[in-house]
Amino acid sequence: MTTTPTLTSKHVETLALHAGFRSDPTTGAIAVPIYQTTSFDLGSTQNAIELFSLQKFGNVYTRIMNPTTDVLEQRMSAIEGGVMAMALASGQAAITASITTIAQAGDNIVSGTDLYGGTWNLFAHTLKAMGIEVRFVDPSDPDAFRRAADSKTRAFFGETLPNPKLVPFPIQEVALIGEELGIPLIVDNTAAPLICRPFDHGAHVVVYSTTKYIGGHGTSIGGLLIDSGRFDWEKHADRFPTLSQPDPSYHGTVWIDAVKPLGPIAYALKARISVLRDTGACMSPFNAFMFLQGLETLPLRMREHSRNADSIARFLADHPSVTKVIHPGLFTGEDKRRVETYLTGGNGGLVGFELAGGAEAGLAFIDRLQLLHHVANIGDARSLAIHPATSTHQQLTEERQLAAGVTPGYVRLSVGIEHYDDIEADLTQALDGLGQLAKAA
Ligand code: PLP
Repeated sequence: MTTTPTLTSKHVETLALHAGFRSDPTTGAIAVPIYQTTSFDLGSTQNAIELFSLQKFGNVYTRIMNPTTDVLEQRMSAIEGGVMAMALASGQAAITASITTIAQAGDNIVSGTDLYGGTWNLFAHTLKAMGIEVRFVDPSDPDAFRRAADSKTRAFFGETLPNPKLVPFPIQEVALIGEELGIPLIVDNTAAPLICRPFDHGAHVVVYSTTKYIGGHGTSIGGLLIDSGRFDWEKHADRFPTLSQPDPSYHGTVWIDAVKPLGPIAYALKARISVLRDTGACMSPFNAFMFLQGLETLPLRMREHSRNADSIARFLADHPSVTKVIHPGLFTGEDKRRVETYLTGGNGGLVGFELAGGAEAGLAFIDRLQLLHHVANIGDARSLAIHPATSTHQQLTEERQLAAGVTPGYVRLSVGIEHYDDIEADLTQALDGLGQLAKAA
């Protein structure tokens, strides 16, 4: 076991370095050790009985919990302002668990349409095949969530900063509708860690692909689910039988009752003790260690990503080969209001733009890049670029591509933390090369 510091700070810069761990009691190590073990000594049979009957928490088996992973969970829960977090093998695993903890065959959830493609596939196909219907609504109209909900709706879902549109999700508005109807709001905050704090706006559960900014170094795939502890499951017990009815997979435990001495962790505990235990998509201790390394510098990196991306967006807006730039810092009207409400810590690192020369120009631009990497990822410390119409969104019809905001000449950048001048120089040479191509033609 590790020693936990008494931390009074509410500052994310401090929490990212200290929350959940002070030093290893055996060796004194101040870096979080990697507990690369499958199992833990249960000690006496009495101790085993108490652990398995949840009379006390402790390490049993790494599929369910692990001391290295536990520090990451405590740290992210402290940063986000939640009551309990759970690490998973990937962002996709975190999203799946966030829903299957409360929805079963015959139930539905209502989700915004502006989603990462993998989440769209999970919702439109895999959850559907499991009997969970996902009703998609336009997030620019928050009331659409109310209209799509019924007595079988178990959650609302949205992405804080969905790309390519980059218009923040109306967290407050949808969370309020959820409070009225007794439906929790789950928010995927992958693209906006620290710059948006979804719990401050009323969200009930936050999920992350830690693969992106939280890791930051592009080395590891992982996910997190964080429970705010603020949703009143007991008040809406009829809507949530997985928490309010005896759970046959845990000798009839009623999760809402079981957690009464422990605090408001019914959702997080069911997610771990039942869903993670049974589906097995746990994070490896080694990856938890990698994410802890990334997390230490996340506050610094998010500031730098936002600063560089703001400048790149302005640079692109002035470039003659670029017809449109999509970036939160350039919005007007209602979209700007949403940016000012939700992105209080910066605009993030994502920038989209359209090239006058369509798909041909988009492909030529990517091929000319020398510093920026051509990859499908976002949130790396390095700057990244991709031409979505021929890659991430290639399988969609042109109509669906356009609905998602992907035009033939659209390029997505995930602006990194290199020196600004070098990023701009690489974009300049790639864009200027397009001008020469056009002249030659
Ligand atoms: N959510 C968002 C917003 C993403 O961008 C991604 C991946 O690109 C995911 C979830 C899925 O994460 P992972 O690749 O870690 O499963």
